[in-house]
Amino acid sequence: MGWPVAHSRSPVLHKHWIEHHGLRGDYVLLPVQPSHLEQALRGLPVLGFAGCNLTIPHKVAAMALVDHVDPLARRVGAINTVVVEENGSLTGHNTDVFGFIQSLRDAQPRWQADAGAITVVGAGGAARAVLVSLIDGGAKSIRLTNRSDAKALDLAQEFGPVVQFVAWKERHQALSNVALLVNTTNQGMQGEAALALELDQLPPNALVSDIIYVPMETPLLAAARKRGNPTVNGLGMLINQARPAFKFWFGQMPDITPELLTKVQATF
Ligand code: NAP
Repeated sequence: MGWPVAHSRSPVLHKHWIEHHGLRGDYVLLPVQPSHLEQALRGLPVLGFAGCNLTIPHKVAAMALVDHVDPLARRVGAINTVVVEENGSLTGHNTDVFGFIQSLRDAQPRWQADAGAITVVGAGGAARAVLVSLIDGGAKSIRLTNRSDAKALDLAQEFGPVVQFVAWKERHQALSNVALLVNTTNQGMQGEAALALELDQLPPNALVSDIIYVPMETPLLAAARKRGNPTVNGLGMLINQARPAFKFWFGQMPDITPELLTKVQATF
């Protein structure tokens, strides 16, 4: 469920896994206006759904509409997966947390969250999932910066003391000595300006992650690659958030195979 939802790649992923696991079922896109979200969610059990995913703009509002929210999702403050329980009640989960850290581990199997300081840019909804992901993954020191300083300061206070606020005007210097840089803003997305961030202070071996996947290589990732930094785009997070959702619904953790990657990449 999303509004709009037509751009979603999730059907490609889940239809592939439904077929691969020999399940009878389907994954359909449901355009749901925000004012209809409660009715749509309450309709899931009687319509025979195992659950649903939620995307923009429903992830926060839906938390108040389901019957149970798991503790991890509550810390993030958003749900992206709903499970219809046997008694017809609805449970909300957040699988973006798993999706982000797993995408880094897939790209760099030896990567560890406590390998050094981390800088996260952005303080929106996605940043919350990324912060919980890194903290639970063992990060020891995260510098958080955002165009609107107040939002980064609030998040640093909420998730501290591992998360330290860095003023937006100081963001370029906040790249010194980091082992990981993450962009969680929409800057660099198709149709948006590039993220205004100078990489001069970034160590040459620091991993650079951008959770955007359209385009696959944002200007930030292109600049990082040109100076020799290893990079990870947002496609891995997108695919990896879908895996535990499928497991919640059908009991099996699906794999990322070359065949699946080919199918997803063909949609871009
Ligand atoms: P959001 O809640 O609207 O947050 C947007 C963020 O971008 C805020 O930190 C905002 O800063 C910042 N921003 C906007 N315009 C800016 C500008 N001109 N300069 C600097 N910063 C600016 O959005 P979201 O849900 O967190 O999503 C952010 C991005 O993550 C999107 O591109 C989305 O596609 C991507 N995403 C990817 C995945 C995945 O699976 N790969 C999952 C979720 C999201 P202010 O606070 O100052 O406005």
